[in-house]
Amino acid sequence: PQPNHTLTTQEAVNRAYNNYKSTTDGSNASYIPYLEKANKRLYGIVIVTIDGKIFKAGDSDYSFPVESISKVFTLAHVLKIQGAKNLQNKIGVNATGLPFNSALAIELNNDKLTGSPPPGNPLVNAGAIATASLVEGKSLEEKWNTVIKTASAFAGRPLSLNKDVYDSEMSDNQHNLAIAILLKSYNYLYADSIETIDLYTRECSYDITAKDLAVMGATLANGGNNPLTHQNVIDEETSMRVLAVMATAGLYNTSGEWLYNVGLPAKSGVGGGIVAVVPGKMAIAVYSSPLDPAGNSVRGQLAIQSIAHDLGINIFKKN
Ligand code: GLU
Repeated sequence: PQPNHTLTTQEAVNRAYNNYKSTTDGSNASYIPYLEKANKRLYGIVIVTIDGKIFKAGDSDYSFPVESISKVFTLAHVLKIQGAKNLQNKIGVNATGLPFNSALAIELNNDKLTGSPPPGNPLVNAGAIATASLVEGKSLEEKWNTVIKTASAFAGRPLSLNKDVYDSEMSDNQHNLAIAILLKSYNYLYADSIETIDLYTRECSYDITAKDLAVMGATLANGGNNPLTHQNVIDEETSMRVLAVMATAGLYNTSGEWLYNVGLPAKSGVGGGIVAVVPGKMAIAVYSSPLDPAGNSVRGQLAIQSIAHDLGINIFKKN
């Protein structure tokens, strides 16, 4: 549909909701048993602005597994404690152009066929697993506490592990474990592989709602300050660098097409969540479980694109 620049924010949300309410394209992630069973009809959109206003439609309070979107918030923490240069050298910040769980990307990087260190970047599995291995702490419990506390500060409320998702993923985790061991063999995993995969799997298995996700994104839009709780979760420079990585690698191997068509840093997860950040303005979050072949929520992408076009927002726009 053509953009309608006369709409208010709530009307743009309603329009995106109504236009794609009956879209049934895409399929649930099939490689994680819990996600395969998700109710495909659920669909929620939430915008949170940096001054704390909330606009929503549909299933905005339904809890779903964060999955890959968690990589953003663990990255924020690790970037804060490691610094920008270390993150670039130990993990990398270039898009891989390959599927999110690619072992080939690790090999290409290690063989110096790309300009990246083996993990690639913090938003693909290899890089996120290496990033999780940099979370400080004496025990797995201590590290997990740091991860969930960081995510909760972004959301402005206590988030918690969904044990069913965690068990479901742990029961079928061989590929991620293989990635961890491969990274370890190249000296690019910075803690024990079994413990790191446990931490990484917990990180993917906490529940959020579309509303939480919009608050988390709005915290990044607001330079690291949560617009609802007013807590400074991270500093502005860290926030800017996290957004830069989201722009280059947030939507798996279709990140370039997304930035080209929508012009907003974003992150999706195979649980069906997606969040786009408009720096200095707002975040737009959507939940809908059916995914495209790259792993991005189909309705999530359509709804965000529709809202961004209607409201005339794009980070490359003159004003
Ligand atoms: N837990 C999932 C995995 O590691 C997350 C993937 C995603 O959302 O991209 O395979």
